[in-house]
Amino acid sequence: MEKMIFCGKPMEDLVEDIRKFHGHIAPGLVIGGFMVDWALELLGDIPKIGAIVETCRCLPDAIQVFTPCTYGNGRMKILDWDKFAFSLYDKKDLKGFRVWLDLEKARAFPNIYNWYMRLVPKKDLPLEILLKTIMEAQRLILSSCRVHVIAFYDEKKRGLTRVCPSCGEAYLAEHGNSCLSCQGKGYYT
Ligand code: ZN
Repeated sequence: MEKMIFCGKPMEDLVEDIRKFHGHIAPGLVIGGFMVDWALELLGDIPKIGAIVETCRCLPDAIQVFTPCTYGNGRMKILDWDKFAFSLYDKKDLKGFRVWLDLEKARAFPNIYNWYMRLVPKKDLPLEILLKTIMEAQRLILSSCRVHVIAFYDEKKRGLTRVCPSCGEAYLAEHGNSCLSCQGKGYYT
């Protein structure tokens, strides 16, 4: 059998990358790997790609493992919409492709449908079984379309920095006369 190559790597390496980055093999990340693989193939050879992810869960890690787009380098935007979808696009002309988990197609793979819709408790759907189904399904549960990105593509410009008179740490000047933490809006005590 021909070795399956995804995102330029054999399947086993891809799963290992997921395990290392994410801490464990999450089914959503493996599906995300297939999604990225497809989106990259559709995009072709583009020097600088951007990503807009429509959920905070799993998919951002798939983008970070399999593309040069990371949250830290500003090339990945995350929208908290809880939709299992993302777009990869050409940073130059803002044209690209959206790939998503297509629920209608996923119905043909009840394990995946039930997992995604949380219709079965985790203990009744062992990870190996679910992963096996995901490997079988590959792109059969996905859809894609062309998109022209019209928002969320700006790379955030760094704002003015000021030194907080209370704690002495640098902070974003637009937050006011002292840092948010010293204004009592911090997250720790
Ligand atoms: Zn401060």
